[in-house]
Amino acid sequence: MRHRNNSPMITTIKERCRVCYSCVRDCPARAIRIADGQAEVIPARCIGCGNCVRVCSQRAKRVLDGTGDVRDLLASGAPVVAIVAPSFPAEFVDVAPQVVAGMIRAMGFDYVVEAAFGADLVAWRYRRLMSENPETRYISTTCPAVIGFVERYLPQLIPHLAPVVSPMIATARALRKLHGPELKMVFIGPCIAKKGEAASEPVWDEINGVLTFREAREMMSASGITPHALSRDPERGRRHNVHDLAANDPLAMDFDPPHPGTGALFAISRGLVQAAGLTENLLSNDVVATDGRREFVEALNAFDKGSLQPRLLEVLCCEGCIMGAGMTSDDAMFQRRRHVSEYVRDRITEMDTDAWQDDLTGFEDLDLGRTFLPNDQRQQFPSMAELRAILERMGKRRVEDELNCGACGYETCAEHAIAIYKGRAENEMCLPYTIERLRHALKELGSAQEALVHSEKLANMGQLAAGIAHEVNNPIGIVLMYSHLLLETLPADSQQRADLEMIVEHAERCKTIVAGLLNFSRQNKITRKQTDVEELIGRLERAITLPPNVRLSVEHYLDDRFFNVDADQVLQVLVNLSNNAIGAMGVKTDGELSIATSGNGQEVVIEITDNGVGISEENLKHLFQPFFTTKEAGKGTGLGLAVSYGIIKMHRGDIRVKTNANPVKGPTGTTFRVVLPRIGDESLEPAV
Ligand code: ADP
Repeated sequence: MRHRNNSPMITTIKERCRVCYSCVRDCPARAIRIADGQAEVIPARCIGCGNCVRVCSQRAKRVLDGTGDVRDLLASGAPVVAIVAPSFPAEFVDVAPQVVAGMIRAMGFDYVVEAAFGADLVAWRYRRLMSENPETRYISTTCPAVIGFVERYLPQLIPHLAPVVSPMIATARALRKLHGPELKMVFIGPCIAKKGEAASEPVWDEINGVLTFREAREMMSASGITPHALSRDPERGRRHNVHDLAANDPLAMDFDPPHPGTGALFAISRGLVQAAGLTENLLSNDVVATDGRREFVEALNAFDKGSLQPRLLEVLCCEGCIMGAGMTSDDAMFQRRRHVSEYVRDRITEMDTDAWQDDLTGFEDLDLGRTFLPNDQRQQFPSMAELRAILERMGKRRVEDELNCGACGYETCAEHAIAIYKGRAENEMCLPYTIERLRHALKELGSAQEALVHSEKLANMGQLAAGIAHEVNNPIGIVLMYSHLLLETLPADSQQRADLEMIVEHAERCKTIVAGLLNFSRQNKITRKQTDVEELIGRLERAITLPPNVRLSVEHYLDDRFFNVDADQVLQVLVNLSNNAIGAMGVKTDGELSIATSGNGQEVVIEITDNGVGISEENLKHLFQPFFTTKEAGKGTGLGLAVSYGIIKMHRGDIRVKTNANPVKGPTGTTFRVVLPRIGDESLEPAV
């Protein structure tokens, strides 16, 4: 329902919304959309019932402001009447009724009339309608939110809507007849949906302004209008009618005529039935009265399906108008009912029945008819397959996954999925789904942290490498210089020359590695060259010294022996791994060191296996950390694996360990598996 200026009746104040889904849960029209984690009212779907306003603890729902229109009307000079809803005794509980009338009059209204008189007319019209059309089943049309619901979501029921105006419109029509067409009408009541009713096409221009009680109170307090002193004496205020008040007291003026009778009961549930005396005339199950946001929808659906077939279904969206969202009262429902029924009782005892009957008869020919227009807002339902796909996206693969916990604001997961299909909800509203995603995110965060720790390790190692490299560079330079000098003095085919050449080769390798370390510390590039893996393993065999208790076996399972690596640096890794393996076998008599190469088109795998002591679980955690060593002082530096790790990572390769240190579980030993991509993509480097 939209106001005549096309402004939605209710909007969301985004900054206040904490997305608790209370409004989603309590909206009978499913007119709340959650988009980008924000609740918003869909104007076309909103029936103005105000449930979302009532349940929002953050006061994040804004009701269309009617005070501006009313101020303009009051300032216009035209005669203006305030039509006050029958629920007013539940709103102004400490104020005598005639003082309420006086306060409203003090706002600037020329007349203050009770809408309950229109309710009398309407009740009377219902009675006639039902006796003249005994075959027709009717849905009462006193509640604008119910009309809005039927027009939008059950338009096939429109022919059943009782073609009678609401008490507000009935009062307006009676007053126009009484005072002429110039009279401007302002309705003051508990209902937000009245703003929509006043703007709806079939009764267009009959009501010129609508205020909720809250707005009326705001206007009163802005103008300094407070209850008369007499109102602080509730006893006197309640028991005495207008004639007991001082004649010159401006507030001591009752509501203007025409005065109501039992129509004043309309504000409470079953009020229409009572006011129209329908229970007396019809079999009891011919009239069904129900109210409340869930119940009214259920009743209308049952009416539609035929499982509920009363002659009159009296439905109210709130639990009586006394519970309307435009009230400021915090009283419980039964207290509010009591205030209204006490007022009606007092009024009926004191009323001039003959005058009332005359008034009613005077409006016997008043047109109280109205029509209703379909405003179909029904949306297509998803197919079973579409529904399943949505549920699966929410992690609900099996029926057991559908917890129907209601945290999203929908009663079932299926309802939530349908709302997603219709664009009104998001996956993230599902609490179990969101928790699962958070868990996943935390895990990812964990791995990211791990990666960070690794890169930190590498950075530490880099610093260390730089330090060592500088220290080692000079002695190696000297070794090389003297070796070359010596070489010149030795005969070409002497054993000594061969030995010295070996020294030079390894010293040169040291120099390259040291330079490499320096590069590594600066996170520099590796220099890939086509390398024959079998040849590299040959160099490895020559570089390590096998003790007598260790047997070496080398196996190659590669068709293509070539890969692109920085051979010197990879050799350094393999030497480290092999020396560690030899160390782990200690004095074991049947030590076995196995080196195996394998792989596929993309990568080369080199495995170095020993049957040594294995690595304990505790040590495994620290294996690649710089300075971690279990070797005795002076023997181990704890750098070998840290440097190896860095070199392999720079190759975009991987280094993994498989080990068993527990003889109970089987033979002890360790395998280091180095995986290196065959063709390095230079653009990917550096890898760390
Ligand atoms: P270092 O050899 O100087 O101790 P490393 O970084 O090369 O430094 O090795 C760190 C530690 O890892 C070693 O002290 C040892 O405890 C463990 N380790 C490495 N390889 C093996 C293996 N093959 N078997 C058992 N323990 C090993």
